[in-house]
Amino acid sequence: MGQLRGWLLWLLIPFLAGCWANSRSGPSTYLLPWANEPGHYSLQEITLTTLDDPYQLSGQAAKIYFGSELNGRNFDGEPARPRLLEQSGVFYPADRASILAVTAYAHYEHMFKKDQELGVSAGVGWPRQVSVDSEYLDENLGMVTRNAEYIGIYDVTRVAPHSGDGIPVALNGGVLAHENFHAYFDKAVSGPVRRTYPFRPKINLYWPALNGGPLNELWLASQWKSDHTNDDDPDEWLLYNLLVLRAWDEGLADYFGYFYAKDPQFMAASFKEVAPFRSVEGFYPPIPSIESLSEKFYGVDDPDCIKVCQSYTYGTFNTRFLLDFQKSTGLSDEAIARSIKLNLPRLGKQVLEAMARGEHLPFGMVWDVLLSDESKLANESGCPVIEYYFNWKQVPRSEKNRWAQLCKSLGPWSGSDG
Ligand SMILES: [Zn+2]
Repeated sequence: MGQLRGWLLWLLIPFLAGCWANSRSGPSTYLLPWANEPGHYSLQEITLTTLDDPYQLSGQAAKIYFGSELNGRNFDGEPARPRLLEQSGVFYPADRASILAVTAYAHYEHMFKKDQELGVSAGVGWPRQVSVDSEYLDENLGMVTRNAEYIGIYDVTRVAPHSGDGIPVALNGGVLAHENFHAYFDKAVSGPVRRTYPFRPKINLYWPALNGGPLNELWLASQWKSDHTNDDDPDEWLLYNLLVLRAWDEGLADYFGYFYAKDPQFMAASFKEVAPFRSVEGFYPPIPSIESLSEKFYGVDDPDCIKVCQSYTYGTFNTRFLLDFQKSTGLSDEAIARSIKLNLPRLGKQVLEAMARGEHLPFGMVWDVLLSDESKLANESGCPVIEYYFNWKQVPRSEKNRWAQLCKSLGPWSGSDG
C-alpha cells in the first residue's frame, strides 16, 4: 500500500507542476488576428494584463464563455479555458474556439482600459459577461448563426458562431464595441424606461424594440397592424418612443464601434452587405419631425422598411450628423465619446420625464442632452451643420432657443416662423 502511494505521488508531481506553471498572473502575450489598420487584419502579438490566469478567460474586463447556453441571468459552466501553445513567452491559441475566445477577451480588455482612461467605465458593471460561438434560438428569427446581441434584462452579450462570409464577430472589435455600448444605453436609458412601463400586455410584444436584440420585421408589422386602431391608441405613443430610443441606441452604438475600431466601416469585415448603409460617414437628411418619423415607422412611403428597420436607418443618419458636427468643430473622438457616455444618465432622466408627460420624444433631444457640454466648446464652427440638420429655418422659435446659445450667428429668430 505504502509503495503504491509512493508511485501515485510520482505520477501526481509532473501533473501538479504543469498546473502551477499554467496558473501565473501578470501580463501575457498572445498571437491574435487583429486589425492594426482599419479593416486590415493580420496576426499580431497582443499583451493582456487583466487576466488572473492566462489559461482561463476570466479577469477584470470580462468573463468569456464558449458556446454556453444562457441560464437565467448567467451563462452555463465556467469561463472558457483556451488551448494554448507557448513558445518564447508568447501564447498561440491552438484551435478555432481558443482563437475566438481569447481575441474576444482581448477586445473587452482594450475597451475596458479605454473607458477607464475616459473616466466613463462606471457606466456599466465589469467584468462583462459574454459568450462567443453561441447559436441561439430567436422566437421570431429562428436559429441565429450570424449576429450578436446584447440582452438588456440579463446584461449579457451573446455572439453567434458566424456562418457565411466575413470574419467571425468575436474577432471584430468594432462590432463587440457596438454591442457593449448597448449595455451603457440600457443601464442609463432603456432599462429605466422598461421598468417604468412593464405591465402593458400589448406593449410587451414590442419590448424587443428596446432589447437590443434581433427582431422579425414582418411579425412586428403584422402585430402592429392588427393592434393599431387609431392615432390616439396609447400603445402607438409608447411604440413610437421605443423606436426612437432604439434608433438613438443603434446609431450611438455604431459611433462606439467606429470609435473603438477607428474605422467608419468596421462592419465590413464581418457583414460586407450592410457596411455601406451603416457607415458612420455619408449622407444624412435633416432631422425628421415627430409626424414624419411616425409616418416612416408606419411604412407609409416605404413598406419594405418599417419600425425597427427605420429606427436603424435614422440611427445611422443621426450618427452621420454627429461625425459631421465633430469634423466641423475639430472635437476629438475622445471628447465626443466622453460627453455621450457621461450624459447618458441625464438623457434617461429627461426621457422618463417627457414620457411621464405623455410626450412623443423629439428626435433631436438626444443631442440636446448628450452634446450639451461639448457643444459649448465648439464655438461657432459647428453651426452650419446644426443649421442643416436641425432644419433651422423650419423649427418653431421655442425649439430654436435650445441651440441659440451655441449658434449666436444663427440666433433664435433667424428663421421665417412667426
Ligand atoms: Zn445594435
